[in-house]
Amino acid sequence: MKDQGSIAKVAFIGLGAMGLPMAGHLVAAGFDVTGFDLSEEARQRFASAGGSGCGEIATALWNADVVITMLPNGKVVRDVLLGGENWRSLKKDALIVDMSSSAPADTQRLAKDLKDKGQGLRLVDAPVSGGTKRAISGSLAIMVGGEVADVDQAERVLTAMGEKIFRTGPIGSGHAMKAINNYVSGAGVVATMEGVLLGEKFGLEPSIVVDILNASSGRSNTSELKMKQFVLSETFNSGFALGLMAKDIRIASDLASELGINLKSLAATVDVWEQATKSLGGNADHTEMVKHIAATLNSNE
Ligand code: NAD
Repeated sequence: MKDQGSIAKVAFIGLGAMGLPMAGHLVAAGFDVTGFDLSEEARQRFASAGGSGCGEIATALWNADVVITMLPNGKVVRDVLLGGENWRSLKKDALIVDMSSSAPADTQRLAKDLKDKGQGLRLVDAPVSGGTKRAISGSLAIMVGGEVADVDQAERVLTAMGEKIFRTGPIGSGHAMKAINNYVSGAGVVATMEGVLLGEKFGLEPSIVVDILNASSGRSNTSELKMKQFVLSETFNSGFALGLMAKDIRIASDLASELGINLKSLAATVDVWEQATKSLGGNADHTEMVKHIAATLNSNE
């Protein structure tokens, strides 16, 4: 039985909107954290927060007991770990914790391929919800899939970043749950924006529509935490990119296809997010979805 307390060094790969504050919490919790990101600016921000920003990924990975990835998707995670033989820099028996919103099938394949290297490399999936606000406050919801002993070890670092940690089952189950959450959330974004635009067409005041939704059964994360803050204010700076939300909903849609089930609202939701990504670009804030919906109000497509 491993000593679950013996995590001396953590490597954190992906120091973006979410990764930077998450890695900062690990530094604050007393872990020795080496960070890597393709962006030099991100590495410098991490160094200013007390971590060691490494110019080479191999340096960041070297001798780490736990490697955390917070990257755009599972393909990038795979490339970072297995591309260019980076896995050779990993310590024997290292635990990899993928906190990105990756596709469950990719995660299951990666776990097998890492195991097949014969170095005792283990993977758990631990995606998060709560956005940049809760990444900064260290109060993310985290859904973790993997072998029980590996999840036990992962919890030593996850508790520094999250408030609610859920064990979802075997490897890939955290990523499946995250995709389901973002489908429900993304459908709520579209429904709430459509409701407000419909009300406005009728002559209702948008901020009153939001107030009434918030006091009624139409209340949601979008009505409470997004509509006034980012949409009606036109600040559009929630910190979560439109292309990332579209990717997450595509993962849920692919999951439904793999399971052979037909979910009509999911199909419509993935379509509207992918159309919006085409028209606004993946780097737009996801709350800018309202612009896409407003621009297509008179279209028959
Ligand atoms: P981001 O774009 O701000 O950060 C991603 C970082 O990864 C960037 O700094 C980028 O330079 C870096 N990167 C990309 N490819 C790399 C590579 N090959 N090697 C090293 N670094 C690389 O994105 P984010 O908003 O922080 O999201 C990260 C993950 O978290 C995504 O999977 C996203 O779906 C998920 N997520 C985001 C939010 C949110 O509110 N932003 C919430 C929950 C989950």
